[in-house]
Amino acid sequence: MFEKILIANRGEIALRVHRACREMGIHTVAVHSTADSNAMHVRLADESVCIGPAASSESYLNMSAILSAATITGVDAIHPGIGFLSENAKFAEMVEDHGFVFIGPTPEHIRLMGDKITARNMAAELGLPIVPGSDGEVENDVAAMKVAGEIGYPVLIKATAGGGGKGMQVAHNADEMAKKLSLCRAEAKAAFGNDAVYIEKYLGQPRHIEVQVLGDGQGAVVHLGERDCSLQRRHQKVLEEAPSPALNAESRARIGELVTTSLSKINYRSAGTIEFLFENGEFYFIEMNTRLQVEHPISEMVCDMDLVREQLRVATGAPLGYEQDAIAIHGHAIECRINAEHPETFLPSPGRISDYHAPGGLGVRVDSAIYSGYAVPPYYDSLVAKLIVHGATRNECLMRLRRALEEFVIGGIETTIPLHQNLIAEPDFLNGDYDIHWLERWIAHR
Ligand code: ADP
Repeated sequence: MFEKILIANRGEIALRVHRACREMGIHTVAVHSTADSNAMHVRLADESVCIGPAASSESYLNMSAILSAATITGVDAIHPGIGFLSENAKFAEMVEDHGFVFIGPTPEHIRLMGDKITARNMAAELGLPIVPGSDGEVENDVAAMKVAGEIGYPVLIKATAGGGGKGMQVAHNADEMAKKLSLCRAEAKAAFGNDAVYIEKYLGQPRHIEVQVLGDGQGAVVHLGERDCSLQRRHQKVLEEAPSPALNAESRARIGELVTTSLSKINYRSAGTIEFLFENGEFYFIEMNTRLQVEHPISEMVCDMDLVREQLRVATGAPLGYEQDAIAIHGHAIECRINAEHPETFLPSPGRISDYHAPGGLGVRVDSAIYSGYAVPPYYDSLVAKLIVHGATRNECLMRLRRALEEFVIGGIETTIPLHQNLIAEPDFLNGDYDIHWLERWIAHR
């Protein structure tokens, strides 16, 4: 096992990785920007290195500064966390070229899945069902209109380099196409420096269902069941649950089997997630995330597994050592993403936290790096805490979640706790009856 690793991230996910390391007796090195000198991940790590100013382009995305920090502190491996450099194939390659282990998939797999068009082609080749759409990039407006005419409106124009909900435009009819194509291209060029786009059928009422996997790079791949992440605002997840209220034993087994067989064909290594849209009993591949995800704790709770520990283990070259039948799903888990944002306007609310009290008790887990007196910096993602609740049944989980949200105190800044409290009181949510468009409609009409 590794003796010392560097965690190339900040906030709750840096802490999440640190915790797994601590339990395994692995020393940790935190890196931080000047804005994060007082951050909890820096306080708890065994060592820390300042890698640059507040702007993430000069700190958390600064590959040479991170590699220098790794060299100076003499670590064995680097864990990229979530976001920042976690899906950057060049970084993974550089980590390996410098003689460190990259705790994640191979650079080739990151590259393959990072481009949505190659990922879509790969998925189809592996036998995963894909959303009807263009055969690769649409070179110009005429080609785009032709595909849209064939599959039928509405269509979704997607940037091949897109991510984080950016680089997607819906066109409802042929008249809208030219405008939406240029909007999508411009947004993609500005955000990702790549304006290639492709076309998918825009599904009217799908659910977002994703399957968590874990592979050892030697052909063994298991899944940890699915997560339902249909509750989204601006294509960004707000609340996730596992298992999905929409699947039955048959559809669950079918998609799990399909995913593990596909990924074992390419010897996938580390944790990953394949995302699908699910409509009228059919699954449609949308993308693969070659990293840990924000919502990974709900799978950990229902499978009683530590995904970061498993990532560390397989990164050393160890085989998975167990098969699918070793993984049993029990009970139900829900995660609420708590952001430093106004619960109605969603305007960011950085600033000093005056009071902090995290909920606790049976089945309650809080993944967060904030504390009383901590100032949430304005430079980064607004996620400040994840409240994860587990119960024997969905109903028990919901009752526990209600009381945990009531207990949660984060004073001095606005948070989305009240949004979650209102959301989980809605009959549609209680009945598990929602699709990917439900939350935006509810926000608009509440
Ligand atoms: P990103 O990489 O930006 O997260 P995804 O491809 O994962 O983009 O899609 C994010 C969300 O956008 C999905 O969860 C879903 O809500 C919506 N979406 C993506 N593709 C489609 C589609 N073909 N039809 C309808 N909604 C879609």
